[in-house]
Amino acid sequence: MITLRDARNQVLEQMAQACKQAGRASDSVALLAVSKTHPAEMLREMYETGQRAFGENYLQEALDKIEQLSDLAIEWHFIGHVQRNKTKHLAEKFAWVHGVDRLIIAERLSSQRADQSEPLNLCLQVNIDAQDSKDGCVPAEVAELVKQISQLPNIQLRGLMVIPAPGNIDAFKQAQVLFEQVKAQHKYPGQWDTLSMGMSGDMQDAINAGSTMVRVGTALFGARDYSQK
Ligand SMILES: *Cc1c(COP(=O)(O)O)cnc(C)c1O
Repeated sequence: MITLRDARNQVLEQMAQACKQAGRASDSVALLAVSKTHPAEMLREMYETGQRAFGENYLQEALDKIEQLSDLAIEWHFIGHVQRNKTKHLAEKFAWVHGVDRLIIAERLSSQRADQSEPLNLCLQVNIDAQDSKDGCVPAEVAELVKQISQLPNIQLRGLMVIPAPGNIDAFKQAQVLFEQVKAQHKYPGQWDTLSMGMSGDMQDAINAGSTMVRVGTALFGARDYSQK
């Protein structure tokens, strides 16, 4: 059986290879370990290999794990769909929220984040390849949303997040163009440095197109079993 440490080393190696092929610095892409459906003990074991950033999709499951692992210095990312009535927990318990696609969500997170906390890091989710089933704003809305969200207190808009259809490599390139456009056009005093894209099956393509954070579940933890949920 392959250990979590082996799996993580393999993923880090693939990321380093992809960076090399793309002519990018090997430390220019961060690894977010997507741990949804996996028990807290598995996260603890992954933490012991040096992993610090973990991504969760389901709020109640995430809150339970945050509680159980409160002795660890985990950086918690919420990568699921953000429901308007659940923003308070996100504002209080997480370091990052990747799935923001409307101003009202950002406003609620901003007002619910405590003044004495570090700013909550946000990514604007873009429906880059116009999938019916996917969340995210349309690309044409990005400029205006960035302008408005970047003015809110207690949050830091860090960049974009996309989940293109499997195999849609062009969508990664389109996301990168959009990301660079915002960087060039909005000289707001934030840290616009994150392009969250790429998963187990397509992280090399995403890195090649400019991803700065890959969200990897299966390649780290193995297949997910949803029957227990
Ligand atoms: C589940 C999930 C992932 C991880 O997918 P894998 O294919 O298991 O690597 C990444 N991003 C989001 C938004 C997810 O929901």
